[in-house]
Amino acid sequence: MMGEERKAEKRKRPRTCVGCGEESPKRELLRVIRTPEGEVRYDPTGRANGRGAYICRCRECLALAKKRKALSRALKTDVSEDVYENLLTLCTDEKREA
Ligand SMILES: [Zn+2]
Repeated sequence: MMGEERKAEKRKRPRTCVGCGEESPKRELLRVIRTPEGEVRYDPTGRANGRGAYICRCRECLALAKKRKALSRALKTDVSEDVYENLLTLCTDEKREA
């Protein structure tokens, strides 16, 4: 019913992709964090400590985020090429088997 739906919505707050700016349930986005040590990395658990940013598992959003430095802005730190490379391997939209 409506009431229940609304409650669930509140509990599972949608996250916004830093690439396309669209909201998605947390599960479908990659969580990238800046650790207290200042390292930027993918957080597979979704629960690691640190400032987090979310991005869709798709190349397009990654490319957009990179171009606009959206990830750097969201995390308030520089995001190295390595991080993007790593995230690219986690994209599910265009899987290329080696
Ligand atoms: Zn996106």
